[in-house]
Amino acid sequence: MQKIRLLDAKTINKIAAGEVVESPKSVVKELTENAIDANAGSVTIEIKEGGISYIRITDNGTGIPKEQVKEAFLRHATSKMSQIEDLEHIFTLGFRGEALASIAAVAQVEMLTKTRDEETGTRIVIHAGEIQELEDAACREGTSITVRNLFYNVPARRKFLKKPATESGYVSDLVNKIALGHPEVAIHYINNGNTVLHTAGNNDPKTAVFYVYGKDAANSMLPISYRKGEYAVSGLIGKPEFCRANRNYENLFINGRFIKNPVVSAAVEDAYKTKLLIGKFPVFVLNLAVEPAQVDVNVHPAKLEVRFKNDDEVYEFFYNAVAKALQETVLIPKAVLEK
Ligand code: ADP
Ligand code: MG
Repeated sequence: MQKIRLLDAKTINKIAAGEVVESPKSVVKELTENAIDANAGSVTIEIKEGGISYIRITDNGTGIPKEQVKEAFLRHATSKMSQIEDLEHIFTLGFRGEALASIAAVAQVEMLTKTRDEETGTRIVIHAGEIQELEDAACREGTSITVRNLFYNVPARRKFLKKPATESGYVSDLVNKIALGHPEVAIHYINNGNTVLHTAGNNDPKTAVFYVYGKDAANSMLPISYRKGEYAVSGLIGKPEFCRANRNYENLFINGRFIKNPVVSAAVEDAYKTKLLIGKFPVFVLNLAVEPAQVDVNVHPAKLEVRFKNDDEVYEFFYNAVAKALQETVLIPKAVLEK
């Protein structure tokens, strides 16, 4: 057996990066979330070759002040929390301070950023965790970050990337979800030079559904808005006849964060139960607004799963919310008839 010793910082970063950055999709997710956290009203997402050779995310958000650009790339460096108690109040999508450090550890990264108050912006180039260039640069307010050749220095990881077409499919699914969850942000998605999606950013969920799923879907959605105790849900649910053969159209967001959660899925599906054919699943875009203290989002580095404080309460809440919305749509035509 070899002697026990502490790994050097570069090795630690590379290993840790594996948890946050798995594929082009996770890079796009982290960078787009950063843009949204920076209050961007529009975000452009460009990828080439499934994002393996090229990803660029451009936003018109706050930008990073010159003197903090270097810090932003340090592991566990974040402007979003300072102590563990902050997690109980956090409404930003990020908070772990790991994304930029992780991405820069396993790719070639270039960032241009400028705040409103600054005369000139900043350009930083980092390859495999090493700063190559750091200088003043002319650029627009906001941030643009380019990630080239993902995992070029981690061959073991690069080997596990799928074909560009497959990776590109994963990115597209993610971008669709972000667009549905954030109708207030205009999302422009360009894949290999072609615009695939360009949402309005008008804060109307139905318009977002129209851009992502098309006209039929948009016309088949019913609004839902329900509040009880500490929970409030809003969004759209599909009419029972507009059901799908899988769960891919089930979109749940908690305080704007896309989440997969079996309790919520079960509650919504149960509320539809008698209205859906066997083997069919509902289409929905639901955003739960809840005190951050009610959910633990820090279960997984990619933050795709959450733990609720009280699963039973959450089940009942969603079941009632959806059952009520579905019931109302049955009642409305009747009320109209009685007029
Ligand atoms: P986290 O999002 O968890 O804070 P990141 O590594 O993703 O960690 O980002 C580190 C910090 O860099 C953020 O806390 C934020 O202050 C800053 N930052 C990153 N991306 C942007 C952006 N697009 N616009 C403005 N600030 C950004
Ligand atoms: Mg982040």
